[in-house]
Amino acid sequence: MKGPTPRRLRKYVAKCLGLKFYLQRPGDGRSQGRIPAAALLWGLLIGVLLRRAAFAGIEALVGSRGRRALDVSQSFGDDALGYFTERLDPAVTRRATVTAVRQAKRHKAFDDSRFIGLALDGTSAGRSREEGCALCRPYRNKKREILGYHHRLVLISVVGTGLTLPLDVEPYGPGDSEYNAARRLLRRTVQNTGRRFADYVVADGEFARAPFLHDANDGGLYVVARLKNNLPELFAAAQKRFRHQSAHQVFRQGKDRVEIWDADDFDPWETLRWETVRVVRYRQYKPNGTVCEAYWLTDFPRRWVGSRAIFRMAKSRWEIENQGFHDAKNRYGFEHICHHERPSLLVVWLLTCLALTIERLYRVRYLHRGTHPVRAAIDLLLLLQLSLGMPVAAVPDSS
Ligand SMILES: [Zn+2]
Repeated sequence: MKGPTPRRLRKYVAKCLGLKFYLQRPGDGRSQGRIPAAALLWGLLIGVLLRRAAFAGIEALVGSRGRRALDVSQSFGDDALGYFTERLDPAVTRRATVTAVRQAKRHKAFDDSRFIGLALDGTSAGRSREEGCALCRPYRNKKREILGYHHRLVLISVVGTGLTLPLDVEPYGPGDSEYNAARRLLRRTVQNTGRRFADYVVADGEFARAPFLHDANDGGLYVVARLKNNLPELFAAAQKRFRHQSAHQVFRQGKDRVEIWDADDFDPWETLRWETVRVVRYRQYKPNGTVCEAYWLTDFPRRWVGSRAIFRMAKSRWEIENQGFHDAKNRYGFEHICHHERPSLLVVWLLTCLALTIERLYRVRYLHRGTHPVRAAIDLLLLLQLSLGMPVAAVPDSS
């Protein structure tokens, strides 16, 4: 098979992920623009994939000899990207990411997994010394003095399938909360993906409140949520019940030994409309002697989904930390402020999600046909970079 190049990657995005129309019409809101939206959009996406966090880095890329190989029709400056991203409709990019993931599902990208999960969690990104936009939130030292500003947002990602695919973000400014942003994000995701796309949502304890759980159920999703002190009665009841029981099940997970307790007849708290609550407790013994213990609540019926499957779903929450925030921030410049305007920040975060999703579907599924091992992200990056130095064959584009 021919090696990956930006041009082949773009064809893959257009044809296999169903984004041909989006690449041409990404929701451009400029009343006049000399530079085609398609050039700016692909410049932004390939910029993320080549790990150019700043608009100036993309300007340098499309101003270089590699521009034709990048498949960007003309060069432009960083100011054009600022102007463009400030006016780009975020809803169109959000729908494009969902289209890509739905298309991947149709092409059986998740067929090895019994369940598809959605994980969501909050994080911060984009620090600045001065308050620069309506989303800026102050961060303070212990004396409550303002040290600077940053932005808070909630990310939602496909998990539990061997592929962590970031889907969408919801920022929240001062006066708003992570919990409210998460509810908006989950409802919008269900609306965009459709009810039958995913099976469950997994989240940390602060989201385990009745309205969020009801939103998930209304969207056709089961819930797997961490149980901590924020639900004191249920937590105490589960601790009391399991404390004197030996583990209901013991198994090995890699080198770890895992003990599990599982019961599905706990009383719901007052506002929760479930008939009963199922609580799963696990203790995971690592070879170095550390023990992790956690409690999780769920409404998955026991007769259908066993304790080990719940354990795996609970663990899939870590994907949003490791393959979500960690990769986005350390490799793809998620924390960098390209252009400090609220709409531009949002659009750049959304394009980063889309670029990560494209990269993983392309690398882990599309390029991984046959028997060779999955290429590492750094190897794909190197191949793309090397391809920029190569002459591009002047064949007409038939796509
Ligand atoms: Zn700001």
